[in-house]
Amino acid sequence: MSTTKVNQVKNGAKFIADTAHRVSHDTHLWEARMRRDKVAQTIPEWEEMRNLASQIKKHTLSNLDYYLEEFEKNATANGIHVHWARDADEHNRIVFEIFKAHNVKVVTKGKSMLMDECEMREYLEPRGIEVYEADLGERIQQLDNERASHIVMPAIHKLRGDVAKLFAKYMDSDPDNDDPHYLNSMMRKDMRKNYIKVDAGMSGVNFAIAETGGIVVCTNEGNADISANVPPLYVASMGIEKLIPREKDVPLFVRLLSRSALGFHITQYTSHYHGPREGQEMHIVIVDNGRSERLSTPGYWEVLKCIRCSACLNTCPVYRRSGGLSYDAPYMGPIGIVLEPSYDLHRYAELPYACTHCGSCGNVCPVKIPIPEYVFRWRKILVEKKEDQLSHRLEMAVGAKVLGKEYTLEAAEKLALSALRYMPQSLLNSHLNPWAIKHTNPEPPEQTFRQWYRKQNKDSKK
Ligand code: SF4
Repeated sequence: MSTTKVNQVKNGAKFIADTAHRVSHDTHLWEARMRRDKVAQTIPEWEEMRNLASQIKKHTLSNLDYYLEEFEKNATANGIHVHWARDADEHNRIVFEIFKAHNVKVVTKGKSMLMDECEMREYLEPRGIEVYEADLGERIQQLDNERASHIVMPAIHKLRGDVAKLFAKYMDSDPDNDDPHYLNSMMRKDMRKNYIKVDAGMSGVNFAIAETGGIVVCTNEGNADISANVPPLYVASMGIEKLIPREKDVPLFVRLLSRSALGFHITQYTSHYHGPREGQEMHIVIVDNGRSERLSTPGYWEVLKCIRCSACLNTCPVYRRSGGLSYDAPYMGPIGIVLEPSYDLHRYAELPYACTHCGSCGNVCPVKIPIPEYVFRWRKILVEKKEDQLSHRLEMAVGAKVLGKEYTLEAAEKLALSALRYMPQSLLNSHLNPWAIKHTNPEPPEQTFRQWYRKQNKDSKK
């Protein structure tokens, strides 16, 4: 993985400059956010559900050692092989060893954020294993050699025309036909032959039930089901935080997940796997990869409550405008900017600044993760570790001087007012002043608020 600092502002600016993509991205995600509000409002107990889900996650995370062992015991009793991976490397090695032992050459993979986090495809492919993404969006991104730009809709930053042109490069399709049904049918035709020949299937896990030793996988296209049901070998990977204690907790999370993600009542496929089907071998790899450390960090552990619904992305004004690829990270948007620095503080040092502090992410999160607080937490850490931007440090130093004394602030107010009055409009409303792009500067007032207030006070004393 590269250690170069990600410049989200620069990457985002490229996306913003492309009006068609930006408008489509913003519109589609805002529609998802609005649908989420609409369906949430149809459930009177929605806020109670969020509270309960948050508490169940808190309880599980507080007793994670117990629930992990319970899950392992029950999953093993169900005939599932359970493995433990300390980090991404170990996860990838375990998966590769399983495949090697079964002489696996071709694999189909359902959508999994954890596998993206572990860069598993990048690990397997040079070792002679062909990996086919079964999720349509992921497959589009795989063909285009790009990472996912959204947790639930990996190719949402693309227009239909982009997909039509991309498909025409790899399959016998019409580059000018961007009808979604046509594109879907082309992909289906192309992928079916792969599904039949695969030696193994992989998927992520949405929920792992300690009580039963089973897993629940939610998708809208059935891509996990193809991976789990067609081949003779099935490997599922899950982070340690995916656990929930009881089977009866599942409906609560399923109800929250799909409504928060896309504003739909339920995901099209909510599949329960409680062991291999006849003649099949099933493995589950339980992965830590920094999670224990996050769990033991006071004031940050709640980040592990995340159910990867993407509601925080859909509502975030920065994410919607700048696109998911601008974060150059497996996780993007609000959850990305508070999660990624815990993987690599230097590389993702600028991400916590990709935030307007509107607080919307915290308001929509179904498990009530205090994301806005975490943004401030990371900024504090970045300053302490001297990983913040030099420009911010200078701004803060100047701000402290100006705001520290009444007379310096008063002088600055007068100076700003004079600048608004007397600076040539060609300078004020030019691209030298980024605020002026698509804005008009207000008419400068006659006096500063302080001058007006003093005058009022004087007049009333007369
Ligand atoms: S932080 Fe909350 S809103 Fe964002 S993806 Fe995770 S669960 Fe969903």
